[in-house]
Amino acid sequence: MLYKSTRDSEHKVSAAQAIVQGLSAEGGLYVPEELPEISSDRIAMMAEFSYEQRAISVLSEFLTDFSKEQIEKCIRSAYTEEKFGSNKITELSHLYSGTYMLELWHGPTCAFKDMALQLLPHLLTESARIVDNKKEIVILVATSGDTGKAALEGFKDVDGTRVIVFYPDHGVSPMQKRQMTTQEGENVYVCAINGNFDDAQTAVKTIFTDAELAQLMSSNSMMFSSANSMNWGRLVPQIVYYISAYCDLVQNEEIENGEKINVVVPTGNFGNILAAYYAKQMGMPFDRLICASNENNVLTDFISTGVYDKNRKFKATISPSMDILISSNLERLIYALSDQDDNAVSEWYKQLAQNGKFTVSEKVKEKLTENFYGGFCTDEQTKETIRQTFDKYSYLCDTHTAVAIKVYHDYVEQTGDDKKVIIASTANPYKFTSNVLSSICDCGENDEYKQMEIMSEKTGLEIPEALAKLKNSEVRFDRVIEKESIKQEVKSQLSLD
Ligand SMILES: *Cc1c(COP(=O)(O)O)cnc(C)c1O
Repeated sequence: MLYKSTRDSEHKVSAAQAIVQGLSAEGGLYVPEELPEISSDRIAMMAEFSYEQRAISVLSEFLTDFSKEQIEKCIRSAYTEEKFGSNKITELSHLYSGTYMLELWHGPTCAFKDMALQLLPHLLTESARIVDNKKEIVILVATSGDTGKAALEGFKDVDGTRVIVFYPDHGVSPMQKRQMTTQEGENVYVCAINGNFDDAQTAVKTIFTDAELAQLMSSNSMMFSSANSMNWGRLVPQIVYYISAYCDLVQNEEIENGEKINVVVPTGNFGNILAAYYAKQMGMPFDRLICASNENNVLTDFISTGVYDKNRKFKATISPSMDILISSNLERLIYALSDQDDNAVSEWYKQLAQNGKFTVSEKVKEKLTENFYGGFCTDEQTKETIRQTFDKYSYLCDTHTAVAIKVYHDYVEQTGDDKKVIIASTANPYKFTSNVLSSICDCGENDEYKQMEIMSEKTGLEIPEALAKLKNSEVRFDRVIEKESIKQEVKSQLSLD
């Protein structure tokens, strides 16, 4: 199977090439030429499989230039009981009748990004072997909090790679910041910027397409790649868990094989929900995909009007990993919905770069509303949802997951559609302790670690060791730069200046 660029359908590469490169040279994103199909027989078969076997089965169809052995090796190294707490890798937990929380945060950094970023370094190393790349791979990361830490943890001390992470200084939770600034490893670098996530992501994307820098890198035997969800190697592992969750429901006799269910995803860069859309296109019986945003509700408006308009005030919310106004992966969706019209996509993204907005065609808009529902909620509603969910169902959720639950309730109220549903639960509540705790009680404690203890006493939910130990970890990276200096910072880190 080949992959092509959303801005030039003639430009085709293999899976390994797409993963090594991250982004296509003209700024487009790589997508598979066609999607493999999943029949109900296949679902019945996979229902009997372990998570590991399901992942091998799905990835084999996407990464056709990998050998079976290579895929098995990657998956067996990534999805271990030791790293994810059990060989189930994800947990499906019953909130109330017909409503299931798909917990994707049992990995080492306590957010769903581990599902892809524990695997990506293995995929990248094998891909480099397949395309016979001898250059050192420099992974540039822009993060709204969770990708940064997950990439650092996934790539630390991986031979032949280096990781450079930029995060918004005032745009991440205290725990997210501490996770990154204390990162261990010889090949890692972390830097804060005065700016927001969009500034970081735009700067990083510009560096990828900078011809002068590419030349300079090449003559020093280095190349850039991406661990953001613009990299296909980040997205493909995410398709697996939606398929796997459905298989679990079939296996546990919660649903009939073939029964349509809805899927709710708290959304920022549109990677996670796009994976659900691909699974649906492959034949999974998913009906509505419910896209939940916080007050940076550019996607809610886009889904209801077909106009994408980022000209609005950026808000720092209590669900910082969704504080995004330029959702990278939406480009892949629009490419698919426009029947792979690379000219239209290029034109719309040119307009986005120039005027900050674009309007899709009627045809795209129709397909959009057929598949998706968009909604958003405020910080206050988020906290109220955390409190109610805990009071009613004894389930403690983080701020991002709460956005999903609230938007889902609104959806049911508006449409009366009460099909069974999977709600993606994207982070461990302890990653956002202060806002989660203050939603359920007024404890008057300011110290984040003491707050964790109080939360544990109140809820009985175990404090993850990975977060508890940060208290005594040494800060290694405390540099803050202006957003205009990102390129210079990269150059000096790589001794290219
Ligand atoms: C990254 C992230 C999201 C948003 O996911 P996208 O793939 O960017 O849409 C939601 N919740 C948490 C906790 C995250 O880390």
